[in-house]
Amino acid sequence: MIDKPKDPLADSDTFAERRVAWLGERLPAPRISFEFFPPKTEGAEAKFWESVTKLQSLQPSYVSVTCGAGGNPAEGTASLVTRLREDAGFEAAAHLTCATASKTEIEDIARAYWHDGVRRIVALRGDRPKDGTQPGANHHRYAADLVATLKTIGDFDIAVAGYPEIHPEAKSADADLDNLKCKVDAGADKVITQYCFETDSVLRFRDAMVGRGIDAQIAVGVLPVQNFVLTKRFSNACGAKLPDWLGALYEGLDEDPEQRGLIGASVAAEQARRLVLEGFEELHFYTLNRANLTVATCRLLGLKPTLAHAA
Ligand code: FAD
Repeated sequence: MIDKPKDPLADSDTFAERRVAWLGERLPAPRISFEFFPPKTEGAEAKFWESVTKLQSLQPSYVSVTCGAGGNPAEGTASLVTRLREDAGFEAAAHLTCATASKTEIEDIARAYWHDGVRRIVALRGDRPKDGTQPGANHHRYAADLVATLKTIGDFDIAVAGYPEIHPEAKSADADLDNLKCKVDAGADKVITQYCFETDSVLRFRDAMVGRGIDAQIAVGVLPVQNFVLTKRFSNACGAKLPDWLGALYEGLDEDPEQRGLIGASVAAEQARRLVLEGFEELHFYTLNRANLTVATCRLLGLKPTLAHAA
């Protein structure tokens, strides 16, 4: 069952031993994970590894690497997962999408991951080809089909996507929850949520999951916003809502990245604090390959970098 303690401090055994502080207030310590994407240029790659070094000291439970839309969904992802595991010492998950790869290609990729020791997969449908081509018999139609296939290849720890504000293609909120239940029934262990700035929507989503008997861990996606204009662009594409109050906070700051960063970390930390007080035990940070805001957010939550890495 998904725990929702009224007062998490009254039930300290349900949380990790570490306790964190928020301006003197004691909070349970959430588990944290970080999402990255494969950098596209040499310059971006150099910055990426700088970010990784800063984030290492926060000791996430694991990190995950997205895969690009279209083409081979392991390209760029597999090699970065290997480096993050072998060079940076992270437990790393590979995102795997099935919209543009055949069933045979997916099975080959999954077998290669299992062979290489990758045990965590974030299983996704991905976006359908822009030309409107529909999946044929040799393609998985939905992520639930992909989850079922992965389970026949190895006992992967599988996470799937959940949408507190409903996936844009879903016929209804109920239909979207039915789909989520299919994914969990097919073998998914965890639901990572799309970022969602209205925390009430995340709470309603958890209640709806519990009401539907969807028994999986939830990792709440948190996006610390550095660049509001860019966030607006990709939120339109993925169907995440941008509340007016958030837009107002960034008004007039297009030329002031420093101020935007301070606001982004502060908003993300406020949301994270509320989620932790509401009993969520895991937060998944969409880092966009940058460290500063995620590090600041975690520090505001009281999660301290380990001395070994900070030195
Ligand atoms: P599905 O769960 O298959 O759902 C897709 C749509 O189909 C939903 O509207 C659902 O309600 C509907 N549906 C499902 N089953 C049925 C059915 N049987 N009948 C009718 N309708 C049905 N994209 C990438 O390209 N690469 C990534 O690395 C990536 N990582 C992501 C990580 C997270 C945590 C999240 C939240 C999203 C990520 N995405 C990524 C985006 C994701 O691929 C898109 O949101 C995609 O459009 C849907 O993927 P899904 O796995 O949720 O699909």
